[in-house]
Amino acid sequence: MPELPEVEVTRITLADRLNGGRVTAARLGKPLRWPLGCPPERLHGLRIGAMSRRGKYLWLPLQGADDAGGLLMHLGMSGSLNLADAPPPAGLHDHFELVTDRGTLRLTDPRRFGAIVWSDAIDVAPAAKLLARLGPEPFDPALTPAAFHRSLRARRTTIKAALLSGELIVGAGNIYVSEALFRAGIDPRARCDKISRPRSEKLLAALRQTLAQAISLGGSTLRDFRDAHGMSGAFQEQALVYGREGQPCGHCGGPIRRIVQGQRSTFFCPHCQRR
Ligand SMILES: [Zn+2]
Repeated sequence: MPELPEVEVTRITLADRLNGGRVTAARLGKPLRWPLGCPPERLHGLRIGAMSRRGKYLWLPLQGADDAGGLLMHLGMSGSLNLADAPPPAGLHDHFELVTDRGTLRLTDPRRFGAIVWSDAIDVAPAAKLLARLGPEPFDPALTPAAFHRSLRARRTTIKAALLSGELIVGAGNIYVSEALFRAGIDPRARCDKISRPRSEKLLAALRQTLAQAISLGGSTLRDFRDAHGMSGAFQEQALVYGREGQPCGHCGGPIRRIVQGQRSTFFCPHCQRR
């Protein structure tokens, strides 16, 4: 599943190339998770602005002489966006195309949980409604160690569950949460409200470091990947605990353990990570 780092790398890869371009056509394939919400012809002739990201959503602003809005895009479980000058004919899993004078932006999404939705602005429905429940952005300076610790103290669930829910910070998926908890020395079964202020500060730093590492890894090697899954695969090769059950911990040499929490695998070192 594309996680926040993959979506951010997609934005970095596409934003500059599309910014300032003009839409010449839009084509729909099979239905996605939600309908486009406007006739595709409405997009013709609109000027493309700077693509931004909120959580795992991308926002592509579009501006015309007497029309304005944008496309809110989500990659779902299996989606990827590619921009090509002369793409091959649309295949079985290509379900949206935005033809522009900068190339054709194409959504390939075999499972079709992704979506491309028109909204008159990012802060009105439907975009505003889809973005309303997202937790804080991991790199938002307003997410201070004090604010992060306050939100931990208000929760009695395990730290793993709280992080995966996206309420504490948005977009930290299973691999990145396992890695960040290891780096911070926190047991994934620890209760949120039992984590001290210094340890919560360490965790916030570890989350940011882990996500930044994944983004820079993707940024440097994305051209080798055919889809977003390839990027988590590359990150996984550098993982300290994720996918390493039974192998020695890089710090203490003891075996990495795997447990299941909320139907997801958690990898951790029982010696280095405390509750
Ligand atoms: Zn260890």
